[in-house]
Amino acid sequence: MPQARCIAMIAHDQKKDDLCAFAGSHEARLSAFTLVATGTTGGRIQQACPKLTVRRMKSGPLGGDQQIGAMIATGEIDALVFFVDPLTAMPHDVDVKALTRLAIVYDLPMALNRATADRLLRTMEPGE
Ligand code: PGA
Repeated sequence: MPQARCIAMIAHDQKKDDLCAFAGSHEARLSAFTLVATGTTGGRIQQACPKLTVRRMKSGPLGGDQQIGAMIATGEIDALVFFVDPLTAMPHDVDVKALTRLAIVYDLPMALNRATADRLLRTMEPGE
């Protein structure tokens, strides 16, 4: 069986509710994909959507964004859903920039808000 495509999901604290709402409204569809998330985001998604299996990396500020960036560089991620908070200063802003930069370098589909994430998910097939 071919491996399901992998979607990475990350949300800053003020956007975690929005990402959980996104995951909840697409739960059945998302369950066909491999899901990876930064630590806290992944925990919140699993609480909100118990049917989903989410591989949790470290928390973003502790290296989770960089772990996901490395996975992009090694071709393990097929799309990035990253709900960024544009109104709060982040101690790990450089990691956020590095991650979005790699997504651009590798021409990865990347949704930075709900409107784009809804459209992106509609276009994706879970299989190869
Ligand atoms: P978190 O990390 O899911 O562990 O909160 C997200 C982030 O990069 O802020």
